[in-house]
Amino acid sequence: MSFRRSTIASQFPISPGSLCLNSIHDSTAQVDIDTGGLMSTSQGEIIEADIAIVGGGVAGSALAAALRNSEYKIVVIDKRTAPLDSSRGDNFTPANAEIFSQWGVLDEFIKRGATKRVGAEFRTSAGEVLLTSSYSEIDIPEPYFLVYHHDLMAETFQEIASENPNYQLLQPYSVKGFEIEAGSIKSITATSNEGKQIEVRAPLVIASDGSSSNVRTALGFPTFEHPYQHNLVSIFAPYPKELTPQNYFYRYSDPSGHVIIQHRNNGTAKVILAVGEEGMPWWKGATPEQRAEFLARRAPILEGIETEMAGFYPARMIHALQYVSGNTVLIGDAAHTIHPARGQGLNMGISALPNLLAKLPTAAELKDPNKVREALLAFEAIQKPLYERSIARNHVAAMDMEAAAGENHEFVIKRQDEALRKVAATPAIRRRYLHESTGYPLPSSPVTNAQYQV
Ligand SMILES: Cc1cc2nc3c(=O)[nH]c(=O)nc-3n(C[C@H](O)[C@H](O)[C@H](O)COP(=O)(O)OP(=O)(O)OC[C@H]3O[C@@H](n4cnc5c(N)ncnc54)[C@H](O)[C@@H]3O)c2cc1C
Repeated sequence: MSFRRSTIASQFPISPGSLCLNSIHDSTAQVDIDTGGLMSTSQGEIIEADIAIVGGGVAGSALAAALRNSEYKIVVIDKRTAPLDSSRGDNFTPANAEIFSQWGVLDEFIKRGATKRVGAEFRTSAGEVLLTSSYSEIDIPEPYFLVYHHDLMAETFQEIASENPNYQLLQPYSVKGFEIEAGSIKSITATSNEGKQIEVRAPLVIASDGSSSNVRTALGFPTFEHPYQHNLVSIFAPYPKELTPQNYFYRYSDPSGHVIIQHRNNGTAKVILAVGEEGMPWWKGATPEQRAEFLARRAPILEGIETEMAGFYPARMIHALQYVSGNTVLIGDAAHTIHPARGQGLNMGISALPNLLAKLPTAAELKDPNKVREALLAFEAIQKPLYERSIARNHVAAMDMEAAAGENHEFVIKRQDEALRKVAATPAIRRRYLHESTGYPLPSSPVTNAQYQV
């Protein structure tokens, strides 16, 4: 039985045929990311655009969709030959649902089958409800997480972006070579699987090529990195019928560890946990029955569940110390890869976009490299401090998740359960928790981070 295939939207529409060329010129010498040296390309095709977006995952495609009614010529280059990894985050925060509404794309997601997750419940394996909360408790315009299969997110944004007649998608084309001058990318070499090369030139480059970003490497962006010890396991299973309400997020705690259960849109659930003392080899070798037995010890509702491994994730933090170099800006995981402890990674890639959009130079101003650089630096000056705080809070949550999977897990889980009871019982802490988890700025409050961290 397979739960991986998405059932709520059209088939994956990768089509290199969507490529159309604006103009043809001679190409030049370029820096090659693989060799670190120079490579000469033969005369080839050149696309000239206003904005080149390297990486058409969630962040890059969302930006192209947000710009669909703009004056810019946009080229998105993506190397994928398959949908995005379906076992990654399926939930857009309420704050991002509000952004989608402002962009006029929220209904597109709902039309294509997105559903709403309206609350969260934390339970113990013994049956105690530690905290139950509904996002409508706080005053926000879209009080729900938008649930949508991860593997469909980028394609939906790309379909919306293609309403722009000046939008081009080069896929599957991999970006490896760059011509770099004084920290700016002058041209990008995109190579198809068949070896066809296209040079893309744009006065503004957006790097949204994910956590192992080639653009970040080519431009030598310094990063702060932290590898976490406990990998995550993600499992697909049929949604347990008795787990109600169905449109909630659930986390079960047991002295042995946690289990998260989230509903998907095809009658299945995604079960996520940090690998503890049982180790990765155990998960790799376990039979479906052994997996179900393990999970049911932490969350009895999963007893006898049919499971399918979705993936293992080495959790890590990579935060670029700067987001801008010359005419290039990093967004999404290329700028900030974070531990999935709070389910914010994909959402941070989107929530930065309104600030970037607000600073973009006009198409006419793009001719002036100083204007481009100033605009990107103005974005960085706003976004970087916000994300430094957010990533620091995420790191605290990540370390808490690490501790709950580590040697002292029993003690740590007891403390976390107690913290959840306090969130449930203390209105100020509860409000702060709800703002934090829905992606909204923290309201002014005397409550400290340590008090609401769970
Ligand atoms: C286990 C796990 C669970 C997660 N759960 C959540 C969650 O619940 N909530 C949440 O918000 N986030 C979650 N995340 C994080 C989230 O998945 C990422 O933050 C998000 O997908 C990053 O989006 P992106 O567009 O920046 O990068 P990606 O989605 O990785 O996209 C990068 C794109 O760039 C393309 N690319 C890369 N290199 C090149 C190249 N050289 N040439 C051309 N194209 C290239 C790739 O093909 C890809 O399409 C989770 C992550 C993991 C690992």
